[in-house]
Amino acid sequence: MRSPTGPEGSHPASQIEDYLVFGEFGEVNPSVSDGSTFTFLDPEKLKAIFHGPVPGCHLYSRLDSPSTQVLAGALALMEEMPAAHVTASGMAAIACTLFNFCTQGTNIVSDRLVYGGTYALLKNFLPRLGISTHFVDFTDPDQVQQALTPKTRVLYCESLSNPLLRAPDLSRMAEIAHSRGARLVVDNTFAPLLFTPRRQGADVVIHSLTKFINGMSDCVAGVITADESVIRELSDASNGASMLLGPTLDSARAASIYKNLHTLPVRLLQHGKNAQALAERLATMGIRVSYPGLPDYPDRAVWKRQADSRLGHGGMMTIDLGEENRAQRFMLALQARRVGLLAVSLGYYRTLFSPPGSSTSSEIPEEERAATGLGPGLVRFSVGLDFDLERTWTRFEASLREAREGVS
Ligand SMILES: *Cc1c(COP(=O)(O)O)cnc(C)c1O
Repeated sequence: MRSPTGPEGSHPASQIEDYLVFGEFGEVNPSVSDGSTFTFLDPEKLKAIFHGPVPGCHLYSRLDSPSTQVLAGALALMEEMPAAHVTASGMAAIACTLFNFCTQGTNIVSDRLVYGGTYALLKNFLPRLGISTHFVDFTDPDQVQQALTPKTRVLYCESLSNPLLRAPDLSRMAEIAHSRGARLVVDNTFAPLLFTPRRQGADVVIHSLTKFINGMSDCVAGVITADESVIRELSDASNGASMLLGPTLDSARAASIYKNLHTLPVRLLQHGKNAQALAERLATMGIRVSYPGLPDYPDRAVWKRQADSRLGHGGMMTIDLGEENRAQRFMLALQARRVGLLAVSLGYYRTLFSPPGSSTSSEIPEEERAATGLGPGLVRFSVGLDFDLERTWTRFEASLREAREGVS
């Protein structure tokens, strides 16, 4: 789906109301499509659709449906990309994108700090297909530059890395990739609307819709946003990774995610407001807290250049309590006081916390984790939409005290 360019100086967050599409019968929400296959009134159009999109026609719901197309169109607009394709998960979006660009004998240069599932895909699975990955620190452009070879097809990173919340300089990464004929693929899951990586030159922007974009922790989904040619390759009936591997998002789910998209900027503001307040109070207490809105955030300059300042600094925060058992006591105390839930994932309306070292990043070897500062006492927070933050803070502080004193 084509996206018009927004007015000068505008930002995706201020345009989100314009993504609204009416239903077939005038419903305020688009009608939900309920068919796996579609009728053709003209056999010539059926013939033509096997060679590329035909306006107003759908072939088969593994490829797309009116409902998945509405969601894809909105997400393309959000990322200021010409086109998008939704998938059954964030991992499917990542895997299909990499399959699209990489063949046997080629390689990927990836940030060493990426989502655990992505790390495992790159490190363990893709080598089985003859695709290798070199992991480097994307906050150091020289390391990235040196890692590229003539066989490099993709530079891969997250706009805000999991779980340490580092923000690579995407303009620099795009420049390095393009000077060597590679593509910059950015996973923007942690910072939707905050970052619009296309503006810095990213070729493909991916999301796990499971997280902030849907925000309800009630489904798993993903999206690939890119140029029309890339989306066409992915959905090609005889060669496309997405079409042939088949990670299809159900129409009913697509419709429900689309409805949640409209509250994203408002939710992000509240996630960010709460996370900022908690991070500041924790920092004042001398707790080792990482949050992009704190003065000691190491990528402050990059953040300032790349992020939409009106939306705050996002809902993700980490606290390092040094030892694993202290982190565990802390999380149990928080859960007992109903501050939030000990669960992986993020972007939910309630606070979620998990220990990345022994969960979502456990795929990353221990030496590698230690080298990056991902210690056993690290707790990752996705701060919720709590209205009464004073009440939350009182409980947070009591949980912290309990964890530090070792009483349970
Ligand atoms: C969750 C997540 C993914 C994977 O998405 P799924 O929807 O769980 O497949 C990829 N990248 C990041 C940064 C994530 O947080």
